[in-house]
Amino acid sequence: MNLIRLSRSDVGNEEKVAINKVIDKGYLGMGLEVKNFELDLKNFIKTKKDVICVSSGTSALHLSLSCLDIGTGDEVLIPSITYVASFQAISAAGAKPIACDVLKDSGFIDLEDAVKRITKNTKAIMPVHYASDSSYMKKVYKFAKENKLRVIEDAAHAFGCRRNNKFIGAEGDVICFSFDGIKNITSGEGGAVVTGDKVLSKRIRDSRLLGVENDTKARFNESRSWNFNVSMQGFRYHMSDLMAALGRQQLRKIKSFSNIRKRIAQRYLANLKDINGISFLDLNYENIVPHIFVIKVNHKIRDKLREHLKKNNIESGIHYLPNHLLNFYKTKYKLPVAENFSKEVLSLPIHTNLNKSDQFYVIETVKIFFEMIKE
Ligand SMILES: *Cc1c(COP(=O)(O)O)cnc(C)c1O
Repeated sequence: MNLIRLSRSDVGNEEKVAINKVIDKGYLGMGLEVKNFELDLKNFIKTKKDVICVSSGTSALHLSLSCLDIGTGDEVLIPSITYVASFQAISAAGAKPIACDVLKDSGFIDLEDAVKRITKNTKAIMPVHYASDSSYMKKVYKFAKENKLRVIEDAAHAFGCRRNNKFIGAEGDVICFSFDGIKNITSGEGGAVVTGDKVLSKRIRDSRLLGVENDTKARFNESRSWNFNVSMQGFRYHMSDLMAALGRQQLRKIKSFSNIRKRIAQRYLANLKDINGISFLDLNYENIVPHIFVIKVNHKIRDKLREHLKKNNIESGIHYLPNHLLNFYKTKYKLPVAENFSKEVLSLPIHTNLNKSDQFYVIETVKIFFEMIKE
């Protein structure tokens, strides 16, 4: 029996051909492929906003904060349940992540908890589209407006998903995607910022190339700036043509990837719904391309189920440990919902190479576990 993986990349011949073309050309850095990937993404999302490709989802978040001048002394509201990347991006900018509680049925940031944590130093809120859903964002934008905060959407789980009938990225303040190896599409590693704020996008374009002013323009013309100025802190966060060539091929497959991921989620929902002891998140499954598939079980049996799956060659995951319990981000206060949530969630395998019979094996293995513990 092969190991059934929790997640994996789906990269094929098209990607190999595209990467080989870049290799044959002999220019691997940031050039025409990145320029075209940005255009392709813009066309896919159907937006007039700017799209800026960068080296990772984490660098997309970090650059967004840093180019908004959010740094030392500033605070950013963030759900405790997220990948540590979101927290690291905030602290890398010099700002303080303010961990907030989450909604127990969706893992989304709880605004009633967040409002209590606002101070005169709060500059932004970074909601996370946990398990790909972002239906709650209307409330976040209202909250942000009332409290004069910028919104940086951590949309790492949500590429290809929709909100208000538009693709994520088409609406909102600053939207950050990740294209790491296991996300809905990959560029090897990589990420992108989407924003309609022209001042911000210009700063991000320069800042991703060490702050070298207008270097993006030169590189998109297959040259570079020799005579330049630098007026801000920059980073080495640009995307390479190798990555962009891979990403462009993945983008062409998004429709088929989306269909497969949606079908897998529907199959779990249909076949696990009658099991006493499993509950699902309350998500808008119609509009999402699920990056992870999360079930909730009693915290007393969660790790036993995980062990049972492992014994049967099935990987599972925990999304996520609460960040406010990590040494570096430890809070004096408790976040009870996030702490319970983290003990109850279990992520089942979902990726575009998970075939139907493997998925039914996962489903049967879960069912057997619940029959075993009944006895
Ligand atoms: C993957 C991920 C990130 C970071 O993206 P990278 O491309 O891996 O840097 C940030 N936030 C969340 C919620 C993620 O899942």
